[in-house]
Amino acid sequence: MRGVYKFDLSRRTKAANAALMGLGNTRRIVLGDTLLNEFSADEIETVLAHELGHHVNKDIASGIVVETASTVIGLWIASVVMNWGVVTFGYSSPADPASLPLFILVLGLFGLITLPLGNAFSRWRERKADAYALQATHNPQAFIGAMTRLANQNLGEVDPEPWEEFLLHSHPALGKRIKMAKVYKP
Ligand SMILES: [Zn+2]
Repeated sequence: MRGVYKFDLSRRTKAANAALMGLGNTRRIVLGDTLLNEFSADEIETVLAHELGHHVNKDIASGIVVETASTVIGLWIASVVMNWGVVTFGYSSPADPASLPLFILVLGLFGLITLPLGNAFSRWRERKADAYALQATHNPQAFIGAMTRLANQNLGEVDPEPWEEFLLHSHPALGKRIKMAKVYKP
């Protein structure tokens, strides 16, 4: 881990954000100035611990593995369908420009299936990073404070509809994350 860096978000947004970035020895944690300026010291510590959780749980590597597998499977399915299209629609080959709409349709359908799966995977990793943050800081109050601030500052939905969370959200609902901290026993 190279270190912890501040990045200039405030020119573009009021929303607070933080992230783990990089590969190998270029890995670093970045905290938005929007977060550093608005959050209390304990809340910043909780967010930092969450990002450290991603680091300890090797989430960048697991994310790359999952995305690579999903891309390879998606392109494989596309190749099967394109070869079927050559026979069925009389394309000259899978590279025939006339087959492009079919290609886009197949990848679009594949994306519709993998989007919720990818989000479910991401929410699982986020829950683990949250658990790490709580265990590392032993400060559920600061965790709740940080989540509440995220909800207010980022205009995040605290309790989205379950179907909306399932399909679209890469992070667990803020309400659930707060509940996790409330029941946390050190
Ligand atoms: Zn996270």
